[in-house]
This record gives sequence, C-alpha cells and structure tokens, in this order.
Amino acid sequence: MQTKQHCNEDAITAYLLGMADREDANHVDACLDCYARVERARIEMEQLRAATQNLASRPEQFWDRQRRAIMERVTPVQRTPFRRWLWVPGVVLGMLVLVFLLHLLPILHPRPEPGDIVKTQPQQLQQDADDLLLVEIQNDLQRPVPRALEPATLLVQARNNIAQSNKRHTSGGVQE
Ligand SMILES: [Zn+2]
Repeated sequence: MQTKQHCNEDAITAYLLGMADREDANHVDACLDCYARVERARIEMEQLRAATQNLASRPEQFWDRQRRAIMERVTPVQRTPFRRWLWVPGVVLGMLVLVFLLHLLPILHPRPEPGDIVKTQPQQLQQDADDLLLVEIQNDLQRPVPRALEPATLLVQARNNIAQSNKRHTSGGVQE
C-alpha cells in the first residue's frame, strides 16, 4: 500500500463521497497527505454547499430587489400618462367650482347698481329702514354720536346719500 502512488482527484472525491475503492480508501487512511487532501476537499465541498445554499436562498431577495429596481425604472413611464390624465378632472372640477362661485358671488355680495333697482330695492329698503332707525335714535338723543360710532355714522350718511340719489324722495325725517 505504501508503494501505491497518491490518490488522484477522482479517488479523493470518491473517498469523500464514500464511494472510493477499498484500495484507495486504505491508502487515504494510511497516507496523511491524501487524508489532508480529502479534508481540504471536504472543506471546499462544504463551502460550495454553503454557496449553493446562499444561491438557493437568495433568489427571493434577489428577485425582490430586481422587481423593485425594475419598478423604479418602469413606474415613471407609467406615472407620466397617469399624471397627465389626473390633472384633467381636477381642472374640470376647479372650473366648475369657479363657475359656481362666480354664480353665487352676486348673491353673497349684492351691489346695488343704478340700473338694477328692481332687484336690489327690497334689500335697499331694509338698509334704509335700519339707517333711519339709527339716525332717528341719534336725532332723538340730541347729542353727538359716541366716538366709537362715528365710522358707522359716516357709513349711514353715505348710504343715505346713495338711497336719496336713487329714490329722490321718500324719507322725510332724514336730514343731514
Ligand atoms: Zn497519499
């Protein structure tokens, strides 16, 4: 046995797999060199198996990463037309809201126009009644308006001027 040459790689692998010839197995058991080669081959095989297990367990993460990377590249292409269509309903809705607000605006902020007396007259009359009440109270008290109400008095005077210019004649008790 000692005269036998060292085992070749096939014999080492066969020994590692438990399939070596009896002659080779005896040599490996007796030869430190060949035994060391078998151990190295065993280590290499363990590393190879670990690497294989890594490869086998990696695809989940690998493909997940691949999918994310692909989606990051694909998504902008898909988003662009989606965004392009997305702002259209928003603009339409905004235009509808704008039209609606423009429609409500004259109701929320009525402006008495000289040519539109018919529509504004009831409210104008109500304002005149309020103004008359305030002015009458002021006249009845026979004293200057409190300083805090002076701006209101100016507003009343302005409204009375507008009302008198609109209606020429009605309020008899209002005098400046
Ligand atoms: Zn040997």
